[in-house]
Amino acid sequence: MSSLLVDNIGELVTNGAGEGPLGIRRNAAVLVEEGRVVWVGPSPYAPAADRRLDAGGAAVLPGFVDSHAHLVFAGDRAAEFAARMAGQPYTGGGIRTTVGATRAATDNELRATVRRLRGEALRQGTTTMEIKSGYGLTVADEARSLRIAAESSTETTFLGAHVVPAEYADRPDDYVSLVCGPMLAAATPYAKWVDVFCERGAFDVDHARAILACGQAAGLGVRIHANQLGPGAGVRLGVELDAASVDHCTHLSDADVDALAGTAHSDGSGTRTVATLLPGAEFSTRSPYPDARRLLDAGVTVALATDCNPGSSYTSSMPFCVALAVREMRMTPAEAVWAATAGGARALRRDDIGVLTPGARADLVVLDAPSYLHLAYRPGVPLIRQVMRNGVTP
Ligand SMILES: [Zn+2]
Repeated sequence: MSSLLVDNIGELVTNGAGEGPLGIRRNAAVLVEEGRVVWVGPSPYAPAADRRLDAGGAAVLPGFVDSHAHLVFAGDRAAEFAARMAGQPYTGGGIRTTVGATRAATDNELRATVRRLRGEALRQGTTTMEIKSGYGLTVADEARSLRIAAESSTETTFLGAHVVPAEYADRPDDYVSLVCGPMLAAATPYAKWVDVFCERGAFDVDHARAILACGQAAGLGVRIHANQLGPGAGVRLGVELDAASVDHCTHLSDADVDALAGTAHSDGSGTRTVATLLPGAEFSTRSPYPDARRLLDAGVTVALATDCNPGSSYTSSMPFCVALAVREMRMTPAEAVWAATAGGARALRRDDIGVLTPGARADLVVLDAPSYLHLAYRPGVPLIRQVMRNGVTP
């Protein structure tokens, strides 16, 4: 059994016991055996190990957990982005452009894109990345999208209900039946989660409820895209169905915030549902950001993710999202780093990642900086010196 000691860590973010909300330890060390953290403590008292990685006084934090990404697609939509930056509004209609390109692509073309984006994210410190389908929208194309996604992640999400494809435009009920029937059956072997884009122009709350309930009955966990482009009942539906996460949360009523905070019930029972904010989408569509402070001040668990997709947020960078969250959404650097690590883990209902405590997976990032603060303080700078997943450099 080979062991690895990462020592001489100037600032260790554990998200467990330690100083402040990030559980910080100074001059710390982490002992890794068989891909797991087995000991965390002061560097001078670290046990011996077969191998040693000297962090040189740098900051070490858990690998980022990106709980929302759409990586299985073909083509790009740079021209749509340029048009938007010249003043055209974002409607979500461009998804159909990507659907056409995705259906026309070979398996190997889709696989190459997933691997390229997954590799990009890894180099920026993302050790866990959820991957959605949703640009196939036929039984065969959704199944192959998830089969390819499953080659790169265990966190795979069936998003057959991304938009109603053009061929079903005048009969959305029939499309919902297809999603709940043969498409779900073909997707389930490769999917852990079911998701719906619940928004005007995509799926209304009744359709979303039907699809999520079918997915749940098939054994999939629930997540939902809700309240991105306008107000609606999607967030409350997610909480009602015990979704692991409601994603976007840009347009929220007091009732939505209460539901997420778990104060909507007279018995005061809380919710496990996380609010995942995706500031890359607001950045790339030049839209108002979600009100993170309102959620945090209400006691809601907040996660940050990239929403990596070719239309509304073509970034794979969690450090970029951390910087946006701090500058544009008034999160503190500590809140943003927690949301990008432990928050993402909660959004995937995982307790073995997003933390560096004994028993956790040894997924960690060594920064080219003395503190996690630099992730927001030095935006756009490549600060990820080294990434480890399961205790090895991928
Ligand atoms: Zn999305």
